[in-house]
Amino acid sequence: MLATQFKEVGKALFTRGLVSSHSGNLSVRLNEEKMLITRRGSQLGALSDQDLIETGIVKNDLQTPLASVELPVHRAILQHTNAGAIVHAHPPHAIALSMTETEIVSEQAEHYELGRIPVLGWNQDTRPGCLSEEVAEALKTHKIVLVYGHGSFAAGQILEEAYKYTAALEEVCQVLWLVKSLRKAK
Ligand SMILES: [Zn+2]
Repeated sequence: MLATQFKEVGKALFTRGLVSSHSGNLSVRLNEEKMLITRRGSQLGALSDQDLIETGIVKNDLQTPLASVELPVHRAILQHTNAGAIVHAHPPHAIALSMTETEIVSEQAEHYELGRIPVLGWNQDTRPGCLSEEVAEALKTHKIVLVYGHGSFAAGQILEEAYKYTAALEEVCQVLWLVKSLRKAK
C-alpha cells in the first residue's frame, strides 16, 4: 500500500518534469522511530520495492548508508514537524525563480493555500544534505519551501499531499515567469 504511494507519486513527479531521471527523493514516517525513504540514486519515475529504505528517524542502522543523500534534511523535518510525508523535487521554473527571488508569492486564487513560499539558502551552502535545520524550521509554518538554486521540500500528512504542493508551486512559478516576461516585453 505504502509502496504503491511511493511509486505513484514518484512517477507523477517524473512525468510532470518535477524531477529529472535520478533526482528528487521521498520519505514517509512509519512510527516514532522509523521512516521509509527512497534509495540513494534511485529513479523516482521507476521505483521498485528495493528502492524503499527503512531506517531510523534519529538513529543510524545498517540501511542508513543506502538512503538518499538528502536523508539529513528528511530526518530534520520528521524530527521537528508533525509531517507524515516529504517530497523533495527539482521543479525547473521554481529553481530558476529561487535564484532571483527571496520568496515566492502566488497571485493565483487557486493556490492561495500555499501562502508565501520562502527561498532559503541565499549565500549559503545549498548542496544536497545541507540546510536541514533551516528547512525543517520553515516547514513548521509553511507547506513547501525552496532552496536557492536547488529545489523544493514539501511536507504533508501523506505523499500525495506533499506532491500536490510541489506541483502547485511549479505551476505558480511557471505563471510568475510568464507574467514577468510579459511585463518586460511591454
Ligand atoms: Zn535535490
